[in-house]
Amino acid sequence: MVKKISILGSTGSIGTQTLDVIRQYNDMFEVNLLTTNSNIDLLYQQILEFKPKKVLINNETKYNEFQDLYKVDCEVFGGREDLLSLCSDKETDLLVSSLVGFSGVEPTLNAINSGVDVALANKECLVSAGKLITKSAKKKNVKIYAIDSEHNAILQCLVGEESSFIEKLILTASGGPFRSLEKSKFKEITIKDALNHPNWSMGSKITIDSASMMNKGLEVIEAYWLFGISPDKIDVLVHKQSIIHSMVQFVDGSVKAQLGLPDMRVPISYALTYPMRFKLDVPRLDLVKISELNFEKPDLEKFECLKLAYSVLNEDATKAIILNAANEIAVESFLQEKINFVDIPKVISEMLNKISSNNLEELEEIIELDRKTREFTYNYIGNK
Ligand code: MG
Repeated sequence: MVKKISILGSTGSIGTQTLDVIRQYNDMFEVNLLTTNSNIDLLYQQILEFKPKKVLINNETKYNEFQDLYKVDCEVFGGREDLLSLCSDKETDLLVSSLVGFSGVEPTLNAINSGVDVALANKECLVSAGKLITKSAKKKNVKIYAIDSEHNAILQCLVGEESSFIEKLILTASGGPFRSLEKSKFKEITIKDALNHPNWSMGSKITIDSASMMNKGLEVIEAYWLFGISPDKIDVLVHKQSIIHSMVQFVDGSVKAQLGLPDMRVPISYALTYPMRFKLDVPRLDLVKISELNFEKPDLEKFECLKLAYSVLNEDATKAIILNAANEIAVESFLQEKINFVDIPKVISEMLNKISSNNLEELEEIIELDRKTREFTYNYIGNK
């Protein structure tokens, strides 16, 4: 059967790599919907190649520009309202959710509430609205396949296992570009240094998150919701080669790991074809060439963002809404040279102290707390 795929954020890093996988199997997949924020030229190329039924341009100016510039064979939509209603489209078999940040929450939730399975690359969805999303998915019997390489690795390790067999999850982390940099040098970190990830090529938000290790913190929270595991059973292990993508330790002492070269097309492909595997044309792992794999404990004093993520989970998981929103603004401000790299955890910690959350569950409450946190964070940074 041909699977109808919709991709939110088709011109981004995950979106283009998803289309790269689909290109290898174009008789098995049909593209229903592609969306972009503003990259209309690439979207046009994608329309010509993948012939989607519908496309959406989020940015209004770019939507108008597209309508003037291009004549296409598919329906063209524009703006957030249309995005939200298109996500409820039952025509889709699998929605690839790869918007960046909190903006992905509502569209993803709409798909879930319409009974559409989701391949999830937007980790902020689970971080901010994990309780609501997992509850809605259960109610609608919707499957969520993580595209995040760590969670995808765990998904692969858990095939044929029962949740009661799990002793702990071990999320691996590359440690980013500052793994071996002394803490005293952190105040000299520039934007260029932080955007220079040793192993993975990704969008700028996630690259900065990887440098601060907030990415791993968000992933611990993501794992907590996705696999229903308590925080004390989720370990982070620094593994600089990024060959082992994560591991599961079972009650009998056995440990399963998933290995491969760092290439997002592998987890994307598994999320698209689960529980099947299709032959994928990507470079193969050569362990002789790699020759050694190293491991170390994460330094929580150096990478305070990771520590903050654990503390949020131990206190009240809905505080992750504040953690996530403050982080998004802090990263944006760092990229605009308004704050230093070392200020990122300071800003987040300040917001966690200032704002209370109270175990929120409803979407409106989550959106409001996210909005309020952004406003507070902007003001705090502006007055610094
Ligand atoms: Mg990851």
